[in-house]
Amino acid sequence: MSSVVSLAAPVRTVVGDKTAKQLDALGVATVEDLLRHYPRRYYERGELTDLSRLVPGEMVTVQATIASVSGRQVRPKLHKLDVVITDGRSRVTVTFFNQVWRQKLLAAGQEVFFAGKVEVFRGNVTLTNPEVAVGEDAEDFAGGLLPVYPATAKLPSWRLRKAVAVALDVVLPDRGILPDPVPPPVRLRRGLLSLEDALRLVHRPDTRDDVRRAVRRLRYDEAFVLQTVLALRRAEAAALPATPRRTAGGGLLEAFDERLPFTLTAGQQEVAAAVAADLAQEHPMHRLLQGEVGSGKTVVALRAMLAVVDAGGQAALLAPTEVLAQQHHRSISAMLGPLAERGLLGGSDIGTRVALLTGSQGTQARRTALLDVVSGDAGIVVGTHALIQDNVEFHDLGLVVVDEQHRFGVEQRDALRSKAKVSPHVLVMTATPIPRTVAMTVFGDLDVSTLTELPAGRSPIATHVVPTGEKPHFLDRAWERVREEVAAGHQVYVVCPRIGGHAGGTDDGRSAGTDDGDPDDAPVDAPAGDGDGEAERPARPGLAVLDVAPMLTEGPLAGLRVEVMHGRLPADAKDDVMRRFAAGELDVLVSTTVVEVGVDVANATGMVVLDADRFGVSQLHQLRGRVGRGTAPGLCLLVTDTGAGSPARERLDAVAATLDGFELSRLDLEARREGDVLGASQSGRRSSLRLLRVLRDEALIVDARDDAAEVVGGDPELLGHPGLRDAVERALAEQRADYLDKT
Ligand code: ADP
Ligand code: MG
Repeated sequence: MSSVVSLAAPVRTVVGDKTAKQLDALGVATVEDLLRHYPRRYYERGELTDLSRLVPGEMVTVQATIASVSGRQVRPKLHKLDVVITDGRSRVTVTFFNQVWRQKLLAAGQEVFFAGKVEVFRGNVTLTNPEVAVGEDAEDFAGGLLPVYPATAKLPSWRLRKAVAVALDVVLPDRGILPDPVPPPVRLRRGLLSLEDALRLVHRPDTRDDVRRAVRRLRYDEAFVLQTVLALRRAEAAALPATPRRTAGGGLLEAFDERLPFTLTAGQQEVAAAVAADLAQEHPMHRLLQGEVGSGKTVVALRAMLAVVDAGGQAALLAPTEVLAQQHHRSISAMLGPLAERGLLGGSDIGTRVALLTGSQGTQARRTALLDVVSGDAGIVVGTHALIQDNVEFHDLGLVVVDEQHRFGVEQRDALRSKAKVSPHVLVMTATPIPRTVAMTVFGDLDVSTLTELPAGRSPIATHVVPTGEKPHFLDRAWERVREEVAAGHQVYVVCPRIGGHAGGTDDGRSAGTDDGDPDDAPVDAPAGDGDGEAERPARPGLAVLDVAPMLTEGPLAGLRVEVMHGRLPADAKDDVMRRFAAGELDVLVSTTVVEVGVDVANATGMVVLDADRFGVSQLHQLRGRVGRGTAPGLCLLVTDTGAGSPARERLDAVAATLDGFELSRLDLEARREGDVLGASQSGRRSSLRLLRVLRDEALIVDARDDAAEVVGGDPELLGHPGLRDAVERALAEQRADYLDKT
């Protein structure tokens, strides 16, 4: 008697209207949503809730024994019923107002479930008018374990349990009707339960082992569907035609290599070979190049660009900010020297030109640049996002290099791809070290190369926390150290979380990384403080560039050449300040995080980060990468008024204790919600990843990736895998919805 209620059917098909409405508040709209509303935990028969651990403000379901019941009429219209419950150690008084009838249903010695919000009354933890289950309701240990669901005040766990039970009975009456996204051979190989069994057991387990097996299967599901989406993306991209860019030698690349004042590290050579092989293919390269700040990614990318120019094409370099675009333009031009001066006196015959395109440049400069780009005279084009957003026309775009991937979404890469008649090759660079499984999950459609060694001769960076809360005079010492660096002929950055002055939309002291106007520019580097560190943070706004600079010039840094740098400066002013700083005409740069990525001034040896606790761990690591780029040792001082031992302070201590960016990025990820890592919307919508944790489930994700590659390789249209195809379509629909939410 297959009543065939489909998974996509609205929950109303299995529950009443009222419950359906309440489920909606939990984000449960379809029968599948309901079946995938997994228990938060399980009670064993007779197991009581530890009442000493109730947290005010939380929604709880407690299982306890009634110690006493007493009711009284306080006023004519106010009846108060106090029920004291116990777990054998602690007691909590639960109060019901005007529920006289309850008194005869509750008695000492009874085991009950109460569900409601934990409150504090006169210093004691309490529940007021909770939902109650006794007798039949409470004894529903159908299996040996009782599932407890994430619930709301109106929809207690046991009512959810009943709704799920109906769904299970209606949808899973017989075996074999539920389409399973995981193909049987894969299930067999990985020793996984079927989807039906997993859903049944996660909701109605007999033993803890049942729960474990069910959860493992459902977790695998999430990884597998996600990896299939990525494998399909890879397959689709690999099927696109691209122009192979092979070099014969004797061109720009060779001339550049001869000019290089150093030899490439073994890692650089390895990556360069992989990139050259990719470029020679008739399908577009999609490669992610990750490596610590200063590991020499830019040189590798520049060599790839030159190879493409040698092969007759053009290369574009996209930077996340104008400052970085300008800096790349400057440094690439400098590295190329006469090779970048074709058509100029003294320029090389085999040379090319490097064009700069930014949103804010003058009309004349822009017109010239656009002409160079469309004619093909500029072999290399450096720019910001404007390069892909505006209608810039290329003569023959062969390679796109994207600097700092985490500010670039899949959508932007797609937009970019559509710029060329034939898909260009794409090389993405990131200095934010990404743990392997995160890279696999977030950038799973890219091949990944990693530069692990720093070029020889790099000086170490010493990092210290300056705790102004306990030791105010340490701050004076910090400014003294700044003066010492300057006296030794070096330069120093002072970084603040805010710009200050007339506040723009992003200048609210909350987001330390958004000074360049891109509202969602830092999904990986958002301040980690919105977690547990929040509570102790003082309410004052973060220190601001425009306040700190005059304070320094009139006080501890009087007499030094101090300038400010931030995202609200006009482009030419930014360029001018950076140029003067790079030329050694300034001693101290008071700045926002615009110096975060890529800025390269070898003579800058010191950095003072004010309100350092307001920055994310990875962000601090990026920031300090700005110093110690030359031969003199670098010094980074993290100034904070957070207390010793607080979570925020511990994060800073961790940054001071290690230079390992991978370790720090793990820390960063652990400190924040998984959804943020995966770029899911902040809107509160439930992510399709419910059980999977990218750090914890590394082995599982690797398995799923292999399995997905195999399945997609054998059946790229998923024609023989309808269950998987449905699941993929749902995942894509969810991603699209999230994307629309964000824009
Ligand atoms: P990244 O882009 O990874 O931050 P860059 O490519 O900008 O690193 O390199 C940082 C600095 O190191 C640059 O000044 C660059 O010229 C220099 N560099 C790159 N590769 C080497 C190498 N193999 N040996 C010595 N110096 C190098
Ligand atoms: Mg760089």
